[in-house]
Amino acid sequence: MKPNTTTGVVLAALLGGAIFAAGATAQEQRFVSVGTGGVTGVYYPVGGAICRLMNQTRREHGIRCSVESTGGSVFNVNAIKAGELEFGVVQSDVQYNAYNGKAGFTEGGAHADLRAVFSLHAEPLTIVARSDSGITKLDELKGKRVNVGNPGSGQRALMELLMAEKGWTMSDFALASELAPAEQSQALCDNNVDAFVYTVGHPAGSIQEATTSCDSVIAAAEGPEIDKLVADNPYYFKATIPGGMYRGNPNDVSTFGVGATVVTSANVPDEVVYEFVKAVFADFDAFKALHPALANLDPQRMVSQGNSAPLHPGAEKYYKEQGWLQ
Ligand code: GLU
Repeated sequence: MKPNTTTGVVLAALLGGAIFAAGATAQEQRFVSVGTGGVTGVYYPVGGAICRLMNQTRREHGIRCSVESTGGSVFNVNAIKAGELEFGVVQSDVQYNAYNGKAGFTEGGAHADLRAVFSLHAEPLTIVARSDSGITKLDELKGKRVNVGNPGSGQRALMELLMAEKGWTMSDFALASELAPAEQSQALCDNNVDAFVYTVGHPAGSIQEATTSCDSVIAAAEGPEIDKLVADNPYYFKATIPGGMYRGNPNDVSTFGVGATVVTSANVPDEVVYEFVKAVFADFDAFKALHPALANLDPQRMVSQGNSAPLHPGAEKYYKEQGWLQ
């Protein structure tokens, strides 16, 4: 009987697969997880972009990357410390405070093994208020129903610092809710809160949802307390949310913000971190194209700005090879 060519092809493919799988096993199939934030934020799609590039070159390095939606920055550094995540996207102020055992990290102590990988996009403090609440600036949040962010999120950590600076407590709000980003826009449009705060890159899914599902405005965050935070801390800077990006918000809004950064632990092997950064920078145009918040990134700045923990040696090796570090 004539051999069935289809079967032959399938068999060859299977054999090829088996040979390849054996190769991958020999160089140890490894797994890394990247902690991000809520699915309607920017961290989650950016983590997805990193993993996508890493998984595209898996045959070369044998590392499978998976992205996880989490409670945000503070959750991520704590999970890295506990060895539950290899990488995490975190705000630059959270990176600084975690590494140095400051602000919300005084009790747990300094996370001395925290290592910087690179910095990413800017994340302005974004206050979104119902148009009918009359809120147009930070000070007008007093006496209102405000979603201050879920514990574990970067916006909650930032809000607590800002409130301390302003001498506010949670009882200064008619209601202080702790909804996660995925729930905050619906709470706003259902009229369960007057405003929510979110430290996030732009455009963000959550802000798009809040401004298209109901009439809402982005409120300004300015004043002497913010000037002081910016003057005293290198990881805070004045920022503008561009007008025209969201429905019903035609004008630029002044605020301040942080940078998003990627961190890991000193316990993650050098070659894993090396492959991680290589996946992003070797196909950098593809990376930038995967989310509009990444469009203006510059490799040299990602290495030299926004990181306060020491760079991981695996990342440093790649940056030296590229001539981005001495
Ligand atoms: N900055 C937020 C946080 O640290 C997350 C923003 C995002 O998910 O894009 O929790």
